[in-house]
Order: sequence, then structure tokens, then C-alpha cells
Amino acid sequence: MFPIEKIRNDFPVLHQQVYKRQLVYFDNAATTQKPVQVIEAIRHYYERDNCNIHRGVHYLSLKATEAYEEARKEVRDFIHARHAHEIIFTKGATESINLVAATFGKWFVQPGDEVVTTIMEHHSNFVPWQQMCLERGAKLRIAGINDSGELDLEGLFGLINENTKMVALAHVSNVLGTINPVKEIVSFAHERGVPVLIDGAQGVSHLPVDVQDLDCDFYCFSGHKMYGPMGIGVLYGKEKILEELPPYQLGGEMIKDVFLDHTTFNELPFKFEAGTPNVAGVAGLRAAIKYLQETGMTAIAAYEEMLLRDATAKLSAIPGMRFFGTAAHKASLISFLIGQTHPFDTGSIIDKLGIAVRTGHHCAMPLMDYMKIPGTVRASFAFYNTIEEIDLLVAAIEKAKEMLED
Ligand code: PLP
Repeated sequence: MFPIEKIRNDFPVLHQQVYKRQLVYFDNAATTQKPVQVIEAIRHYYERDNCNIHRGVHYLSLKATEAYEEARKEVRDFIHARHAHEIIFTKGATESINLVAATFGKWFVQPGDEVVTTIMEHHSNFVPWQQMCLERGAKLRIAGINDSGELDLEGLFGLINENTKMVALAHVSNVLGTINPVKEIVSFAHERGVPVLIDGAQGVSHLPVDVQDLDCDFYCFSGHKMYGPMGIGVLYGKEKILEELPPYQLGGEMIKDVFLDHTTFNELPFKFEAGTPNVAGVAGLRAAIKYLQETGMTAIAAYEEMLLRDATAKLSAIPGMRFFGTAAHKASLISFLIGQTHPFDTGSIIDKLGIAVRTGHHCAMPLMDYMKIPGTVRASFAFYNTIEEIDLLVAAIEKAKEMLED
């Protein structure tokens, strides 16, 4: 039995009314809520341990440093990386991807080279590559999707050639929910000597992730989408490729020696962690990982799958619903439109009924253009959501349909 009651009690924000109705929070793909354990870890850090790390010999500094480096090991274990120094703390998936696009682009991309991505990417895994390609005179090649929102795998494979320098794609689409066959893609790319970056922003909170099994070269994610704090994230990179990349930002922490006319750089992971890091964020992330591990990623995936199946069946029974993303292998979110109505109108009505859903292009404008729609309404589920809440969503959509289609 999934301990849903205990879990809900751990998330204070869920227990409030909006517009005099019990809040139903279905905007989990944008950001997840935080359990008391995470909030407490951040409070504890500022109350008891706050100190700048790596530079002090005094008690607090050593304590904060030790906790920060322990967290790195726990992230390593969480995603099954080989080494703790392959874990770089960033401010989120966006910064992780920018780091790779900028440093890899600077040293390894020449005019005429190509980067392969997909039409379903979040802007965070699209614009950095697009801009880097424009700067370097390289070409961004974009794989399409089928009517179910599944990646056109053959098409993607067809884009990988001797000019390809990188493949960058989402583990899970934030709009369609599609879980991409990333292991197969990594294997295909590696046979042709091409590294692969996986944007795991929507992956880590739903699926057990094993970067060694995937064999990906980079994997990126954000703390706030996995029940941790905002402003903290992770870039995983294989040791060898991280060693080869130049530093991203320059300043304190990332140096070994500084002379008047030149500087030598620190070893991994510090080479990529310039300046004072988000130590409190790391404390919160550590608590979030512990929470996920104690709940169990496999149990979470099974519970969310049950929510997805239930919601899909009930929403499909409403006449005139249009779904975007019906892949066989899908994470727990549903993007839809009620007939020809505008997503903002639907979202506003649903909001007044106490249910938080997201509306708009979801930072995936190329995908919206591809599907020829202005946006969608997206209900994204977390493991603290319930069947009763899905029933409220169904009733709210029926109400919105009645009002909008009159
Ligand atoms: N990639 C995907 C698939 C996302 O869904 C998001 C956020 O919605 C991001 C990247 C960017 O994450 P962040 O804003 O936390 O950096």
C-alpha cells in the first residue's frame, strides 16, 4: 500500500484553501511542492551550520563543507554515477545545459559541424544549442515526432552523421509526457562516436535513473522539480569529457593558482563551481533525495502510473477533448485542449475551482508551432496527488466545457 496519507501530511502547502476551496495542485511539472523534511533541512542549515565552504579551518566551515560534499556523494548514488566528482552543482537544469553548450561549443564545435536535438525540447535544451550553433557556424538539426507525440526515432538516427558533435534531448517531455528511449539513442550515437546530453528535468522525479546504465555523457536536472529547493540543480558528466572541457565561469573556488599573467584551474568538480555555491540549496536537495529514496522511486513510478491511467480514462470520456501526447511510454502528465477553446480560458476557469494547472506554450514554442496550436492546458501529477483530486479535475473540465462551448 502506498502511504498516501502520511505523504500528504508531509507537504504543508497542500493543506490550504484557494478561492474557499481545497487546493488541488496539478502543476508539478513546473515545480513540485516541498515536504517538511526539505524545509527543515534548509532551516537547520541556516540556524546551525551556515558558513562558506571549502575555505575555512574553523568548526562551522568544516561542518558545512563536509555536509556539502556528503550531498555530492548522495547525488552520485541517487543517479548511480561512478564518481562524486562527476556531480557538478549548478542552479538548475537550465544552467547545467548552458554550461555544456557553452564550454563544449567553444572547444569542440567548428563551422560545418552539427548538433542534433528534437522538436519536443524545453527552451532550456533548445536555445543554448541554437545560439551556440549560430555563433560557431554550426547547424542545429531537429528530429520530429509522430501523432502520439513519440520521437521519430528513425528520423533522429538519420540525422546523426560524421558532422554530428552532440545529441541533446529530453528524457521526458514536459509537454507530451513522452519518455524517450534514451538508452537506445545513446547506444546508437556512441557507435558513431557522438556524445549525448540528456535533459532529465522531468525524468528524475518520476523514474529511477542510472546514468551508468544509460551510458549518457551528460545528465541534467533541477532540485525544485524533485521536491527540493529552487536555485539548485545538477550537471552529471562523465569524468573524461568533463576533464576535457574548459571552465564555464571564472572566479573563486574554480582556480588552483592565480598569477599576474595566467591562472591554473582546479580539479573536478570545483573547476565548474565558481564562486560561493548554494549550500543551503544543497542541504535541501539532500533531504529531497532522502525523501524520494525512502518513498522508493519504483513505488512512486507505479503510483503515478496509476494516477495517469485513471486520469486518462476519465478525461478521454469527455466528448471533444483533444490530447497532445499519447505515447505508450509516458510520465504522469496530460496536455489537452477542450475542442477549439483557448487554453488560458480553460485554465482560468479551472483555477477558480481551486485547481492549479498550467496553460500556455510550456517553454516549448517550436513544439507548439509544429503541432499548430497556441498552447495546451497541462495537468501534471505527483505522488502526493489522489484519485479524488482527479475527479475534481474532471468535474472542473466539464464545467469549463459547459461555460466555454455555450
Ligand atoms: N527541461 C525541461 C524538460 C523542463 O521541463 C524544464 C522546466 O520546466 C527545464 C528543462 C528547465 O528547468 P529549470 O527552469 O529548473 O532550469
